[in-house]
Amino acid sequence: MINYKDIYNYSQRILDIIAKPIINEQEVEWVKQETVNGFRDYVNPGFLEYRKSVTIGDLASSAVEWSDSGPNGFRDINGKEYIDCLGGFGIYNVGHRHPKVLKAVIDQMGRQALHSQDLLDPLRAILMKILADITPGQLKYSFLTNSGTESVEAGIKLAKANNPNKPTIIAATKAFHGKSMGSLSGTAKGVFRRPFMPVVPGFRHVPFNDLEMLRKTMESCQMVGEDVGAVLLEPIQGEGGVNIPDGDYLTGVRKLCDEFGALLILDEVQTGMGRTGKMFCCEHYGVIPDILCLAKAFGGGIMPIGATIATEKVFSVLFENPFLHTTTFGGNPLACAAAIANINVLIEENLPERAAEMGEYMLAGLRKAAAGYENKLVDVRGKGLLIAMEFVDNEVGFEVAKHMFDNGVLVTGTLINAQVIRVEPPLTITRKEADRVFEVLAYALAKVSGDNKV
Ligand SMILES: *Cc1c(COP(=O)(O)O)cnc(C)c1O
Repeated sequence: MINYKDIYNYSQRILDIIAKPIINEQEVEWVKQETVNGFRDYVNPGFLEYRKSVTIGDLASSAVEWSDSGPNGFRDINGKEYIDCLGGFGIYNVGHRHPKVLKAVIDQMGRQALHSQDLLDPLRAILMKILADITPGQLKYSFLTNSGTESVEAGIKLAKANNPNKPTIIAATKAFHGKSMGSLSGTAKGVFRRPFMPVVPGFRHVPFNDLEMLRKTMESCQMVGEDVGAVLLEPIQGEGGVNIPDGDYLTGVRKLCDEFGALLILDEVQTGMGRTGKMFCCEHYGVIPDILCLAKAFGGGIMPIGATIATEKVFSVLFENPFLHTTTFGGNPLACAAAIANINVLIEENLPERAAEMGEYMLAGLRKAAAGYENKLVDVRGKGLLIAMEFVDNEVGFEVAKHMFDNGVLVTGTLINAQVIRVEPPLTITRKEADRVFEVLAYALAKVSGDNKV
């Protein structure tokens, strides 16, 4: 028998708690226990194991988050503050809950949350005009999604519809494009792909930043009648470890695409919206894709929304039947309000430029903090505020992340690899906060080096 009364009371309890600005000790304890037990019994016990590996102390006491603590950090449920150097893997470009983005969403919420699905929703049209205006070249028509993987899926489908006789899509080794079947086929990591074989046919991977290999592969594909219809790349690989290509790589890729009649899809889900020091990373290289994929920071750190923008020529395959590719929630009015406010704030606060400046500052500061520990931290690299710290191995990376977290700085590698740890704070991070990050890094490195003076 399902006990609806108990379920109702349980749900009411948490609704009452989240309605309170401040919760009491008993409520704190209840939330902690429900969180840890719920992860064990209903979410996935694997997350607890992972979180344990980067937490000092027990999880209920030191790993349950509760609120933002300002634009660049958050608090755990005990009130301990953290500087957010993970930035949600790059979703908080304008900071946590930027007041202007929050207001836009609340204003729209007061009027209408989701649309009829049938009439013409104004914010969609207005956001897309803004998008066409801020993106380079002839990128013009967009499709709005709920996530990065969906933006890539839409890009892949657009490319296929444009080049039905060119079945091959080339991606790069170490690429990350998402985990739904289409984008997973472009994603390169074996551990994420192996259990789901065969993925979508037609995908090939070549080493990133290797033009000669790309040319040879495109030639071979043409010779055997499996022509390349699209090349899918991140301009700088994020998840793969912040891999920055040579200055002429992307222009070379663009030329090869034009030569072979393939479309260039750039996945800027992580590098877009100012992260690397320009509004879009491709602007650093003067390269304009045929299809550009966005998500993560696109919704201003408040709403999930992504976009796939294409030239009129490429997008026009959807003109005759606009229902050929659709999504119910993609680009809903709340998400559009957030995305419009997000772009407004990026411009108003000059955040791409700030990312470039603070990126230089942080690269220098992190390198200085790591001086003398070259046997642990082998490389610090980045562009704008997309920065990576590369350690000698996984274990050292995990240990450093753990000590940094214990001292109020969140950074992380990925579940299966902490050898490269990304630092991608909000673009609004202050010098004072950055200085604290350097201090904590130096402390963590001393700690893992067995330096007892710290
Ligand atoms: C995170 C990411 C994705 C996937 O986005 P989701 O919203 O998690 O589906 C795709 N491409 C890149 C480059 C990413 O960094």
